[in-house]
Amino acid sequence: MADPNSRTGTRYATPELFDYVGRVHAAHDVGLAAAFDAPGVHDMPAIQVGPSEGKLLTLLLRLAGAKKVVEVGTLAGYSALCMVRALPKDGEIWTLESDPKHHQVASERIAAAGFASQVHCILGKALDHLDELGAKHGPFDAVFIDADKGNYDKYGRFAAAHLRPGGLLLGDNAFYFGKLLDEHPDAAAMRRFHEEAALAFESVCIPTPDGLLLGVKR
Ligand code: SAH
Ligand code: MG
Repeated sequence: MADPNSRTGTRYATPELFDYVGRVHAAHDVGLAAAFDAPGVHDMPAIQVGPSEGKLLTLLLRLAGAKKVVEVGTLAGYSALCMVRALPKDGEIWTLESDPKHHQVASERIAAAGFASQVHCILGKALDHLDELGAKHGPFDAVFIDADKGNYDKYGRFAAAHLRPGGLLLGDNAFYFGKLLDEHPDAAAMRRFHEEAALAFESVCIPTPDGLLLGVKR
């Protein structure tokens, strides 16, 4: 039956419904569960992607045949573990994290899950490392951005410069917690991220709870 409401943004998902589809399609193994639960255990903000978004990252990278991936914002390594599952054995992820505690917890959880050799955890502010990373290891097959929102425009430019044609740009929190249209410097940076991505990529904003920008490099 026609449904005019869902096209304009009405949501049918409830927390219970979300939990159900997450359990059916995106169940955690031991390694993923340990990384997902780490923020709660270590008194860190629990701002990792949800299980369904994590699984979406896995499947998108698999579809793209990704081998070399950059992540901005590691937290406890949950999204990095979701992504590394999509990679071949010689695939690599470089993930950047500015908080030493987050970096340490993530390094431990990634090692415990058996992916220490494939996921390189880099400590520092992303902008201090991205140029060197791009020069040394680019071009990349995917870039996942999930850190400080006021720099998304700059991270998006890094992605446009260092992704191969056909490579994936992924940007979490693309609705900026619902404040995307606000008059605020960070909201303006997020809008520039959208608008510049639309030029350099075939792009869409997937309406996950907080929006996931997906771009395929032209
Ligand atoms: N991608 C993770 C969640 C990341 S949360 C997941 O889904 O599992 C955002 C992270 O970005 C936080 O750990 C925060 O410390 C980090 N961060 C914030 N500003 C940063 C910067 N300038 N450079 C690198 N990391 C940054
Ligand atoms: Mg996020």
